[in-house]
Amino acid sequence: MKDLDLKKILRPGAKVVVVGLGSSGVSAIRFLLGLGVEITVSEGGHLENLEGDLVRWLLEKGLHIETGGHSSELFCNADCVLVSPGVPLSLPAIRQALAAGVPVIGELALAKDFLKTPVVAITGTNGKSTVTTLVGDLLRAAGKEVFVGGNIGVPLTEYLQGGQEADFVVLEVSSYQLDGGADFRPDVALLLNITPDHLDRYPSYDDYADSKMSIFKHQRAGDTAIINGDDRVIEAGLVRNGGKAGRWPYASRLLTFGKQQPAGPGAWLAGQKVGLEMGSGAGNLMEEYDLAGTVFSSAPNSYNAMAAILALRACGCPSSAVARGLTNFTPLKHRLALVAQINGVSYFDDSKATNVGAVVSALKGMAGTVTLIAGGRDKGGGYDLMLEVVKEKVGAMVLIGEAKEAMAATFRDYTRVEFAESMEEAVQLASTIAKAGESVLLSPACASFDMFKSYGHRGAVFSQAVLNLAKNGVVMTNGGVEVVREASFV
Ligand code: ADP
Repeated sequence: MKDLDLKKILRPGAKVVVVGLGSSGVSAIRFLLGLGVEITVSEGGHLENLEGDLVRWLLEKGLHIETGGHSSELFCNADCVLVSPGVPLSLPAIRQALAAGVPVIGELALAKDFLKTPVVAITGTNGKSTVTTLVGDLLRAAGKEVFVGGNIGVPLTEYLQGGQEADFVVLEVSSYQLDGGADFRPDVALLLNITPDHLDRYPSYDDYADSKMSIFKHQRAGDTAIINGDDRVIEAGLVRNGGKAGRWPYASRLLTFGKQQPAGPGAWLAGQKVGLEMGSGAGNLMEEYDLAGTVFSSAPNSYNAMAAILALRACGCPSSAVARGLTNFTPLKHRLALVAQINGVSYFDDSKATNVGAVVSALKGMAGTVTLIAGGRDKGGGYDLMLEVVKEKVGAMVLIGEAKEAMAATFRDYTRVEFAESMEEAVQLASTIAKAGESVLLSPACASFDMFKSYGHRGAVFSQAVLNLAKNGVVMTNGGVEVVREASFV
């Protein structure tokens, strides 16, 4: 989908279908009301399951509502279909609308015609929320007004409705959003990594990777692209999209981050320091950032720090503000968060690790032997990618949930494998296996919905179970329990 003039398409009186009534759908409706278009809402759920206040509001505003499914007739006769991020473009009604030439867009597509503020957009399989939050924090530390949103928290359409007074818009961008992004062109675009995820929604892994790569597609000279130079899937994607190896196929300027100093401008790791070179002359150290003592001192967070530092420097922010912001960053919940140390064993909550790539990076960053609690709802794609690092780091696995048999089949020849029926039992069992100096890590590689309401709920139950270990009279050595983070349900 290219060169959509959305100001023209979304003219007063135009027929627009909004698909999905989650928070982003509702925000999109408010934005569209301001344009004077004629809105029909199409929601897969049934009317009786929608909140009464919401239905009343929709009717008050004169909207048409279709519930319990999506009709092709409605979609094919629209001037435009606006989908929420969670809605698959493979829905039959959407496919038919596309075939009929109806523009099907997500909120990112609105940026070209309606957004006046420069955009920093962050994508990748893992680390998006962390880096989006970090870039927002660092920009604020540099004295900038920032709107942080997109796939995280507040929808972009919320910002579009207001005075647009921020200096920068920082957006977390999922592959689904990019798929509906039309001519979305971020001033600064970050691609953190690509590992298998959501393969149920893409015809192939290459299609998923290309969806991520499309963040660079509409960039122009003067824009900045930031990529993980150690990621072989990104490298292969560049070759696929540009022809020759080693050539940057897009119009923007490229900055690269990784373990080694890149051939061109970018950032690299030197122990617990980040070296940075923004000019063209490789070999020159321009700046150095010390990550020791911060949450970014080990992988994968050291990668997140490099990506964010480059983004900040691309936005013209001074290095002093960046350094200050890095030190003050509060890590997000359920992402490699240290819950407690009990009897010399460190317990980490990485419940947000819902795919194998996140678990691989978590294990790589762990010092010493790990007892891994994993499992949940299988997302397809298998677990082979974890095998090498499991062999290297995992002394035992405690498996829970629907995926436990499939995971056991992959790992039982290489490490000790135990089953547990609940998170409490898993934590109890892990506490009897892990020795002082080792770690227990909840990093499930699976979705949470078979046993929990969300990854947040799963992490909270884990944290509570860890804290209960202490309460339940585990024999204390090593100075007893040091509680680092309170458990709370979200
Ligand atoms: P996302 O928004 O992409 O899901 P999050 O910041 O919420 O990313 O982190 C999701 C999971 O990925 C967590 O388990 C976290 O520990 C892990 N993670 C964070 N940063 C990275 C990274 N750069 N590479 C791989 N895994 C990461």
